[in-house]
Amino acid sequence: MKLKPWQLILGALIAAVAIGWIINTTCATSREPELVLNGFGEKFVGFFAYLGELFLRALKMIIVPLIFSSIVVAIAGLGKTGGFGRLGVKTLGYYVLTSFFAIISGLALVNWIQPGYVDGKPNPEIVEKITRDSETYEDKVAAKTEGQKVQGLGAVGDIFKRMIPENIFDAFGNNGRMLSLIFVSLLVAFALMVVSQSARTAVLGFLEGVNEITLVVTNWIMFLAPIGVFGLVLKTVAYTGIETFGLLGKYFLVVLGSLLIHLLVVLPLILKFIGKVNPWRQFYAMRNALLTAFSTASSSATLPVTMRALRENAGVSNRVSSFVLPLGATVNMDGTALYECVAVIFAVQLLGYDLPMSQQFLVVALALLTSIGVAGIPSASLVAITIILNNVTIDGEYLAGTGAIIGFLLAVDRPLDMSRTAVNVFSDSCGAVVIAKSEGESVLENKTEM
Ligand code: ASP
Repeated sequence: MKLKPWQLILGALIAAVAIGWIINTTCATSREPELVLNGFGEKFVGFFAYLGELFLRALKMIIVPLIFSSIVVAIAGLGKTGGFGRLGVKTLGYYVLTSFFAIISGLALVNWIQPGYVDGKPNPEIVEKITRDSETYEDKVAAKTEGQKVQGLGAVGDIFKRMIPENIFDAFGNNGRMLSLIFVSLLVAFALMVVSQSARTAVLGFLEGVNEITLVVTNWIMFLAPIGVFGLVLKTVAYTGIETFGLLGKYFLVVLGSLLIHLLVVLPLILKFIGKVNPWRQFYAMRNALLTAFSTASSSATLPVTMRALRENAGVSNRVSSFVLPLGATVNMDGTALYECVAVIFAVQLLGYDLPMSQQFLVVALALLTSIGVAGIPSASLVAITIILNNVTIDGEYLAGTGAIIGFLLAVDRPLDMSRTAVNVFSDSCGAVVIAKSEGESVLENKTEM
């Protein structure tokens, strides 16, 4: 029997979890404050993690040309048929609405289950651990957020400042600057609508070629997917500290539970009742993209795979997918918005406060806003969570000690990052399908094999 590519990827993922678990339990020489593996474990994991890194780099390599060429070609094409305004409004409406629904699921669950409390008081074991190792945790956050501004509300304003690069090549030279890349792409696309016919034809012809090339290269890169996925997941599982994981179990389950509600209930309902398509077909069409998002924890790195799956499996036109997906990979992050909300409220619970309604609204608003600015890369929401926590007040006072709590949450961040990224990517793809349907396209009707 010949296995299909997605079956190979899924098999690699399961094998990585199993082998990673064995290594974690048999090769650890110390577990506090960081998990350290013995020589064999380190070499074994290191070798496959290296292959995983190669796969990730190959995907990242094509994001910039893919986003730039997709947006410019899509908008210049829309200019001709005059649908830009309509499509823009639908797309933004979908992004805001679904992110809002996601946040509400998270908010409801974290307030109901209260993972930060034991018998109505902050979990003493966690508080003790955070107080004891607060410096280590703060250092971890500092290392992760190095070079990124995380102060007050000004940091939210920064999101918009980051959109305009000081030098146009900055937008092309850094995968963390997706907002500026989108801004430059939009600018070029609009300019193309007013330049001479000959200039437009030349530039568009070239960019259409670039777009096709990126998709062909994606096909080639996906041959590496099983081994890449194996390496990335193996490293995560092998280096996850079980002790801290246990302490954070309730929090972990609240995040995972709300993500699952969004993934398996809210988005399918939107597909069924607004898009009028069969949700299971959408899951099936997006299987490779979901597995890649889960393994890489990066919506941006997954974008080429999502694009290909939507066009080839779901049958969404280039016109819609090229417009909705690159924007969505940066701007529409349902899982991230939900996660930020739960993490912030959990942290406040650990500090012993019940967040008043007005402050919960602030958290929702900031989670919506910051999820737009969060880059589609691993652990990117960390900065957003810091921004939100720096702006929450109780009786007019800013909270202290939040840095160490965020550092502590890092212990389970990777598996949650993998899960929220899969939700982010699935929501982008549902947006494209719903919008394509509303534009009269027939999608998800033929199930092409990948
Ligand atoms: N890793 C997420 C993504 O790429 C962003 C985040 O929540 O950290 O979509």
